Amino acid sequence: MADCIFCKIIERALPAKIVHEDEDILAFNDINPQAPVHVLFLPKRHVATIDDLDDPVLLAKLVFAARDHARKLGVAEAGYRLIMNCNPDGGQTVYHLHLHLLAGRALRALG
Ligand code: 5GP
Ligand code: ZN
Repeated sequence: MADCIFCKIIERALPAKIVHEDEDILAFNDINPQAPVHVLFLPKRHVATIDDLDDPVLLAKLVFAARDHARKLGVAEAGYRLIMNCNPDGGQTVYHLHLHLLAGRALRALG
């Protein structure tokens, strides 16, 4: 997608601190971190939102990549949060599907 900032990061046309890459997924640090660990996991192919995703295996790969990264950083036992925002009411601001991994501090309960 020509005007997608995350596609540009995937193509290395924009810089980012990349922390994980495999055949299907790229992960990099969020530019505006909300916790000591704030990493975004995204599919290398452009999918705008979770509502547009047709491949459950790709979703599982994103979740497992984030889980494995939390283990690698040593924060899995203390805990972490995975968030995926969808469309305006969900707070999505970048329309290339991504999963947030937040860790490194106690996050408030939602309710
Ligand atoms: P959303 O609100 O769509 O779920 O999350 C988008 C996230 O992307 C935000 O947390 C925002 O800080 C991050 N972000 C936006 N632009 C850039 C960028 O150019 N580089 C990086 N690394 N993160 C970005
Ligand atoms: Zn994209």
